[in-house]
Amino acid sequence: MIFSLGDIRYSSMNEINKNTNKLIDPFGRTVDYLRVSVTDRCDFRCTYCMAEEMKFLPKKDILSLEELEAVCRVFIKLGTRKIRLTGGEPLVRKGIMQVISNLGKEVGNSLDEITITTNGSQLETKAEELYNAGVRRINVSLDHLDPDKFKEITRWGDLEKVKRGLKKASEIGLKIKINTVAISGFNQHHLSEILRWCGEESFDMTIIEVMPMGDLGGDKRYGQYLPLTQVRNELEKKFTLTDLPERTGGPARYFSVKETNNKLGFITPLTHNFCESCNRVRLTCTGILYMCLGQDDNVDLKIVLRDKGLNALEDAIRKAIMRKPKGHDFEISRQSPNVSINRHMSLTGG
Ligand code: SAM
Ligand code: SF4
Repeated sequence: MIFSLGDIRYSSMNEINKNTNKLIDPFGRTVDYLRVSVTDRCDFRCTYCMAEEMKFLPKKDILSLEELEAVCRVFIKLGTRKIRLTGGEPLVRKGIMQVISNLGKEVGNSLDEITITTNGSQLETKAEELYNAGVRRINVSLDHLDPDKFKEITRWGDLEKVKRGLKKASEIGLKIKINTVAISGFNQHHLSEILRWCGEESFDMTIIEVMPMGDLGGDKRYGQYLPLTQVRNELEKKFTLTDLPERTGGPARYFSVKETNNKLGFITPLTHNFCESCNRVRLTCTGILYMCLGQDDNVDLKIVLRDKGLNALEDAIRKAIMRKPKGHDFEISRQSPNVSINRHMSLTGG
């Protein structure tokens, strides 16, 4: 088969993959970043992420900790340099610290980084263990600095507890980035306050556009959507943003902020297409590999692992990468106001 990629012509992409032992997709993108949702459970119920009544998966469908680690190790063998554990809430999964610690031993060797995205609820007790396990940077989600508003958006969250966790994490030496989802009519005029607070605490900040994931009932999603072009315009009235060349292979664009002396990222899957440099795939806690956050095509690695073993898994992953699509299909409009991708973010972990 001949693949034409601009000036480069490959006689067989599979052959290239095998020769370099790297995962390279049909569009020439090296896939070296794995995001793993280690549980679908969570101790919060953020209104844009989960319905209040969630049906969680039966235990038999969930990869065991050993299976999770085994899949991660096959990815590492195939050139993965960065692993992010997410969820649901990754730190509520029993025994997960051992997996982090085991994989953490690869950092500086076959891995550049192991990191997590967390709601911060468990950080007060887990920050030190994370650091000792080899984690150096974490993303913590926080959408409002008013305790009542925080409770409103998370339904079950306690802002003070999260703040204590952040303090502990920062004292221990973890570098922190705050993830804030921009929600129309909820925090759109509060984002500058969060940015200022991040500056005071030496945290970076990333603002995320609401993505159409999972059915939340009614037309709630459209009401929540706030284009980040609008957010940026508002912030630029108060802050001096300078474009940074930094590219992570993901949907974020970064700016330095003069007044707060920190970094600000915008994740804009809907108003800006980030797919051309995509370097990542996502594994759910049930072993389903999604080659794109915004597409439904997937491969069941759990079946392969349980029925055929590790060698077959390697092959299945290589084949899956060959199905990585060129881009996503997110869409929010009045005609289709609610769901574009019919799975909750807590399944694929954002
Ligand atoms: N529980 C952890 C947390 O909240 O950080 C990790 C999982 S959570 C699904 C990962 C990130 O996805 C969080 O920053 C959350 O705010 C974001 N998120 C969840 N649902 C989203 C949605 N529909 N659109 C945009 N971001 C979303
Ligand atoms: Fe839980 Fe994170 Fe989803 Fe909030 S965004 S409900 S904390 S998984």
